Amino acid sequence: MKSVYKRILLKLSGEALMGDQEFGISSDVITSYAKQIKEVADLGVEVGIVIGGGNIFRGLSGAAQGIDRVTGDHMGMLATVINSLALQNAIESLGVPTRVQTAIEMPKIAEPFIKRKAQRHLEKGRVVIFGAGTGNPYFTTDTAAALRAIEINADVVIKATKVDGVYDKDPVKFSDAVKYEEVTYTEVLNKDLRVMDATAISLCRENRLPIIVFDSLVEGNIKKVIMGENIGTKVIE
Ligand code: UDP
Repeated sequence: MKSVYKRILLKLSGEALMGDQEFGISSDVITSYAKQIKEVADLGVEVGIVIGGGNIFRGLSGAAQGIDRVTGDHMGMLATVINSLALQNAIESLGVPTRVQTAIEMPKIAEPFIKRKAQRHLEKGRVVIFGAGTGNPYFTTDTAAALRAIEINADVVIKATKVDGVYDKDPVKFSDAVKYEEVTYTEVLNKDLRVMDATAISLCRENRLPIIVFDSLVEGNIKKVIMGENIGTKVIE
């Protein structure tokens, strides 16, 4: 069986990286992510990754504690770089070559984001992790994922969450919540469904970039998604 996608942008949640800890990076979760990424990279799929920073710092929660919003967002973007480096380390320890490119330049640590260079790495089979979000405050890593996916011409954004798809209401709170197999961008925006923020969804809609939302904590799921198995929810036109 062959992958249905040649190039993917995988969005991993920073918050999920905590596992059952209160803060930081769970070695079980990061190892599971790395194994799953190796599995798809070994199939010849080109993988770009954006990882969040919510396990370490979020601009909004900082603002709630009195930290200036822009400063908090800078801290949040740096948190995504910490996660990117941890993920790079975990993936490379399994023998898969990777590069980290950041939206805020820090050349002693990683390459700056350069689209053409990112594409070249992907063509050579290197996993490219995009750190520091979009480089701008007031944005999210979901928007960074949509943006990078469009820039590198990915076929799909694969958005990892803690639930197995998109529901009409919160499945944790409501036992009668119904899961969508497919849903349109417009429905997501109009019903305010919790997939990605509105900026990210609009970018995907404008560029006809499909999104697949799935549960990344079940090992093997990333491969299932790229093989076209019907798990999770697909957001399309
Ligand atoms: N952030 C930002 N600009 C971006 C991306 C992220 O300012 O383009 C900051 C923002 O403060 C955000 C934090 O980085 O709260 C961490 O990202 P996010 O909350 O999206 O991570 P996740 O929810 O995936 O853990």
